[in-house]
Amino acid sequence: MSKTNQNPFENVLVQLDIAGEYLKLEPGVRDMLRQPKRIVTVSLPVKMDDGRTNVFTGYRVQYNDARGPFKGGIRYHPGVTLDEVKALSAWMTWKCSVADIPFGGAKGGVICDPKKMSQGELERLTRRYAAAISNVIGPDQDIPAPDVYTNSQIMAWILDTYSLIKGYAVPGVVTGKPISLGGSLGRDTATGRGAAFCTREAAKAVKVPLKGATFAVQGFGNAGANYALIMEEMGAKLIAASDSQGGILNKKGLDAKKVLAHKEKGGTVVGYPGAESVTNDELLQSECDILSPAALENAITKDIARGVRAKIVVECANGPTTPEADRVLDKKGVFLVPDILANSGGVIVSYLEWVQNLDRLYWTEEEVNSRLEQKITSAFKGVHQEAKKHGVSMRTGALIVGVGRVAEAVRTLGLWP
Ligand code: GLU
Repeated sequence: MSKTNQNPFENVLVQLDIAGEYLKLEPGVRDMLRQPKRIVTVSLPVKMDDGRTNVFTGYRVQYNDARGPFKGGIRYHPGVTLDEVKALSAWMTWKCSVADIPFGGAKGGVICDPKKMSQGELERLTRRYAAAISNVIGPDQDIPAPDVYTNSQIMAWILDTYSLIKGYAVPGVVTGKPISLGGSLGRDTATGRGAAFCTREAAKAVKVPLKGATFAVQGFGNAGANYALIMEEMGAKLIAASDSQGGILNKKGLDAKKVLAHKEKGGTVVGYPGAESVTNDELLQSECDILSPAALENAITKDIARGVRAKIVVECANGPTTPEADRVLDKKGVFLVPDILANSGGVIVSYLEWVQNLDRLYWTEEEVNSRLEQKITSAFKGVHQEAKKHGVSMRTGALIVGVGRVAEAVRTLGLWP
């Protein structure tokens, strides 16, 4: 699905090698971390509204569970590939480890175009997928959640299908579900909120006052739009936003709430009144203090990176910057908050949701947000310290922390037989 042909899983391996050098990983552990523990591929016949049967392909990749049950979202997108899902599952593993929550990492993907499907078709596809992977998921085994083009309704269908197969209600099998089914308050805004907390910490680190700081968001989906709304509450000024159809820019500032209302009405930010049109690439290189790629992998290539003018980059998306682009940004002195830290707010609140489900108790939104703030701020500080200790970028610092903890768990578990 990447814009370039760059294989996201190759990026994972490049990053793993960098972390491995610093961690002096022994070859056995390094080799175990280079591949997923299990890959499940399923074919999903679905009755379409016109009476035809379409066979879709779905994946669930369980990367590593040394630190706890597998955890990670499910993506519906026409560009899904197995290597993409593998990469996303590895990033989930490091992410849960950086956030220090007791989960491993997994990811799911179904090759489909949800924008061209009816609700009925989506429901039938989702239930078929849930049934097909039902023997490998579960609250103690692997807990899915939303990702690109999936949402709380899709989680509700997975929960219902799984519970029907089991014969009793199992709310803890998914997170990011509707509140009425045991979802957590604050989960829907958690990825954006966590990224905003990280931006606040980054701004302190590089001494850019957040009040009045300008920011641009590439990808105005759940993560990007909530990030924009919360950054605005913190006093920053949105100057550009985009989605798959194009972008808008106004140096004097945009109103995030109104941009979101415009997108909800017409399906895109494009055509928002009082702004000039820009392409996604122009947005990434626009003049601003803070840039957030919040769409898909490989958005910031080496060439784009050369033109990035922001002082801080906050990756709301997973894998938006290629390893070559990383080097360019690092050389330019850009302070980049990497995906496995920046967007960990989503899975942190997924963890809080799962804990509430298992304990049968529910917290207020304030309680959830404050636990999120504590967790992600402490993760930021840990990564920042590690980066300073080794004189490396925040990306490398996060990989050292994330991969390091997983390696330690793998080592301590030992090998049987
Ligand atoms: N899909 C989100 C991510 O990439 C959330 C995963 C989760 O909550 O399990 O982090």
